[in-house]
Amino acid sequence: MKKLKIAIIGAGPAGLAAAKDLLTAGHSVDIYERENFAGGVMAFGIPAFRIKMEAVMRSVTPVQELGGNFIFGKDLKESDFLNLAKEYDYVYLAFGLTKVRHLGIPGDDLEGSLNALEFLRDFNFEDKLNLLNSKPSLHGTAVMVGAGNVAMDVARCAVRSGAERTYIVYRRDRAEAPCTPREMEEAEADGVVCKFLTNPVEIIGENGHVTAVKCEIMTLGEPDASGRKSPVGTGEYTTIACDYVISAIGQIPDQAVWNVGEIATDHGYVKAVANYGEAFQTSVSNIFTGGDVVKGAKTIGVALKCGKDFAKYVNEQANA
Ligand SMILES: Cc1cc2nc3c(=O)[nH]c(=O)nc-3n(C[C@H](O)[C@H](O)[C@H](O)COP(=O)(O)OP(=O)(O)OC[C@H]3O[C@@H](n4cnc5c(N)ncnc54)[C@H](O)[C@@H]3O)c2cc1C
Repeated sequence: MKKLKIAIIGAGPAGLAAAKDLLTAGHSVDIYERENFAGGVMAFGIPAFRIKMEAVMRSVTPVQELGGNFIFGKDLKESDFLNLAKEYDYVYLAFGLTKVRHLGIPGDDLEGSLNALEFLRDFNFEDKLNLLNSKPSLHGTAVMVGAGNVAMDVARCAVRSGAERTYIVYRRDRAEAPCTPREMEEAEADGVVCKFLTNPVEIIGENGHVTAVKCEIMTLGEPDASGRKSPVGTGEYTTIACDYVISAIGQIPDQAVWNVGEIATDHGYVKAVANYGEAFQTSVSNIFTGGDVVKGAKTIGVALKCGKDFAKYVNEQANA
């Protein structure tokens, strides 16, 4: 078997799974990671009360022990991927989704209007990674927008950061929430109050700081493209006094990465031109991709499968 040289961008579950299987097969692997630690969202997104750092290290340690070369503090862009593709046999793009969709309503820019990933990162830097001396401290009332697993994590971390009242506002009802029933029950057990059929339309502020969020009361109509009943405005409004509004309405790709325009993308997601199982080939033949950056926000299991399938594809090529 030929020994190949592979560059992996992103040390989340997709990149780590690929690295482990490639190293096991005897290839040489460099992992370029923006942060100064490995683990991806498992480390800086999901709080320790759900996934402990020791569990994250079970994906990282084997890669270290097998001789994987981590190059930390490297925030790479498309021009770098293309340069690496000349130097390595394969480049694997596994850098996840690093931005949060904006609420896009008036007042979104007020102090106290936060985004889920930045909030969780600050929380985990102190609570899980010991990289900051203090986690975000909140007071008064925090309102989370969204009802996915990210919103539930943010709400539970808001409680642990000192918020006296924590609300989830969601434009559909409980049955339509994208998080699991258990995730919502755990948030509620922590004291989080869910307000369903409630859709923020304006963040209200005083002296530049959030003081309230105005929401439209919704009802449910016919199913939309997602198959879920669509939220329909009633024209009636309610206002929730609050100190923070935290957007958790979905992670999206960082469009700024694409500074050349040679690798085909679709709204910032990497576009696959071919696939071998869950190994996705990009428009540049030796650049592959996997995990959330090509599949959209999915799960750790999906990312792991992508990484493993990429390693399998490379091994097949090395043996051909
Ligand atoms: C708050 C939260 C809770 C979640 N809870 C669960 C759960 O309970 N169960 C579950 O299965 N899934 C959960 N998920 C989803 C899961 O974490 C992701 O699907 C998974 O981490 C995606 O893996 P990935 O390898 O594609 O990317 P990521 O985990 O996002 O890793 C990407 C890595 O690339 C790095 N990177 C980004 N940009 C660059 C760049 N330009 N240059 C270099 N490096 C870069 C990042 O720092 C990161 O380390 C959750 C997600 C979030 C946000």
